[in-house]
Amino acid sequence: MTDAWLVDSHCHVDMPQFDADREAVLERARAAGVGRLVLIAGFDEQDGQRRALALAERLSAPVAAGVHPHEARLFSDAIEDELRGLARERRLVALGEIGLDFHYDHSPRDVQREVFRRQLRLARELGLPVVIHTREADEETCALLEQERAGECGGVIHCFTGGHELARRALALGFLISFSGILCFPRAEVIQQVARELPEERLLIETDAPFLAPPPHRGKRNEPAFVVEVARKLSQLRGTTPEAIGRAAAANLARLIDARWA
Ligand SMILES: [Zn+2]
Ligand SMILES: [Zn+2]
Repeated sequence: MTDAWLVDSHCHVDMPQFDADREAVLERARAAGVGRLVLIAGFDEQDGQRRALALAERLSAPVAAGVHPHEARLFSDAIEDELRGLARERRLVALGEIGLDFHYDHSPRDVQREVFRRQLRLARELGLPVVIHTREADEETCALLEQERAGECGGVIHCFTGGHELARRALALGFLISFSGILCFPRAEVIQQVARELPEERLLIETDAPFLAPPPHRGKRNEPAFVVEVARKLSQLRGTTPEAIGRAAAANLARLIDARWA
């Protein structure tokens, strides 16, 4: 086993939840074998994107930026221009996370749809893959991805919690599917079934830290080191080793983002 055999393809280590012990968290990630983590810069009322962009620069870590569906009501021409600028400076490896969240409905659904559509168009314009957040909106997410020809820029369904139909249509578009700690929850049977059947070249792993810690850490703050639990669960489901899962995820992540990350 090499030292760095894992990736965390989606985390929010820039968030204030890590302010007290960020270096220790990053050190534990390294010690656990996480060679690479992708930061997500989300625009919000406090210019939260700047935190992740600054941390990414300091760590030389890849970063994606976008307007989360929760924050869709904040989307503006100015933000679109800022995203365009960041992409032109080659500071982004992907646009995201973007999508639809009909579970929380923090932004009105028609606003979410419109902002998702605009960011999908922007991704195609910029030639960036997309990081998709979708919750209780499988059908509409698929329809929008297809209508906006998201297959041309590619991307990943992050923190997969959907059904077989979402998986099937995402794969048809050439997308990757990323599993989080939710895969390890006892009642995640459908997600586990999707994980069993997924072609190896399409799988990714992530924590979405600080959210959704997998067992045995459930209920606590999540952190990138815990991605090992996701790799372990996937290896059990697929009859392979955690190392093989880690290697596949690292290769798939590299294929997704390395064209923008010299
Ligand atoms: Zn998300
Ligand atoms: Zn996230």
